[in-house]
Amino acid sequence: MSRFWSKVVRDLTPYVPGEQPKIANLIKLNTNENPYPPSPKALAAIEAELDGDAARLRLYPDPNADLLKSAIAKRHGVTTAQVFVGNGSDEVLAHVFMALLKHEAPILFPDISYSFYPVYCGLYGVPYIQVPLAEDFTINPDDYCGQTWNGEQCGGIIFPNPNAPTGRLLPLAAIEQMLKANPDAVVVVDEAYVDFGGETAISLVDRYDNLLVVHTLSKSRSLAGLRVGFAVGHPDLIEALERVKNSFNSYPLDRLAIVAAVAAIEDEAHFAECCNKVIATRDTLTADLASLGFEVLPSAANFIFARHPQRDAAELAKALRERSIIVRHFKLPRIDQFLRITIGTDGECQALVTALREILA
Ligand SMILES: *Cc1c(COP(=O)(O)O)cnc(C)c1O
Repeated sequence: MSRFWSKVVRDLTPYVPGEQPKIANLIKLNTNENPYPPSPKALAAIEAELDGDAARLRLYPDPNADLLKSAIAKRHGVTTAQVFVGNGSDEVLAHVFMALLKHEAPILFPDISYSFYPVYCGLYGVPYIQVPLAEDFTINPDDYCGQTWNGEQCGGIIFPNPNAPTGRLLPLAAIEQMLKANPDAVVVVDEAYVDFGGETAISLVDRYDNLLVVHTLSKSRSLAGLRVGFAVGHPDLIEALERVKNSFNSYPLDRLAIVAAVAAIEDEAHFAECCNKVIATRDTLTADLASLGFEVLPSAANFIFARHPQRDAAELAKALRERSIIVRHFKLPRIDQFLRITIGTDGECQALVTALREILA
């Protein structure tokens, strides 16, 4: 705290990301990064862009990243006017809160969800209501349909699908139900993990002008370090995001990020191979943890959410850490007995299971 801080800054409660420890030989299963490298074509594209002497870095990048918008539009069967790109999907989401969710009525999101949402609400002054997940940690679409505040619909809806940190997937039919029940509010589906077993709602954007789907290249494309995310929706929604972006930073994506993201999106074979490996490892890890007595929620993501009926989750996380394995534990109501474990390589997950077997013995 300092007398130089503005009132806004004094009142903020910033997001705390999972740690990135600078320890060698760590098994890092805490921030949902992909254990496999990105497409080699992405690295080749960066090298080509540097063109031997990096002279091109002298010049600003394309402020609209048209090349990338075209690649995304082609991959998802939409037009470039339906695509917005940003410096990681966190930046895209920040603009979404400012541009599309800041209204008079409260927005809705699940009580157990991506913990950045309440942070953005705090930053932009967006009123919100946290809607409890069902007992089995699923989202009940009925909870997002029909209520009014002073005679108005909610100010918007946002949730990850699959949800984080539960991994549970909501079927597209449930999303459609929300879209129909809230025609005057934007419904934002944060699909950071959809490539690991979900079905994208992008197929619905032509039918619902209140739908915005947000993606990231950080998880399924192994490019968390590059910072690229995007949104797909009706051109009017995209225009709102562009207006905020162009009032904030004209060049959110640098030259290297643009070309590497394009190459990664075009490398369908590498993408499919990595996703399939993660899914296969998830199935094995789920079975292994169940055999150790864990209750594992059904996951459509690149992580699992699990609890042991007899052992305290914080203690388990601590014991794993002593063995150089880090997983995520949230000290939050309802989920403080769960561990969120990122799917690593088969070898990393095997090491985790071995360590847990020792700890539980
Ligand atoms: C990882 C994650 C993001 C952020 O991804 P970046 O593109 O790396 O900023 C957004 N939403 C959810 C639910 C996530 O888990």
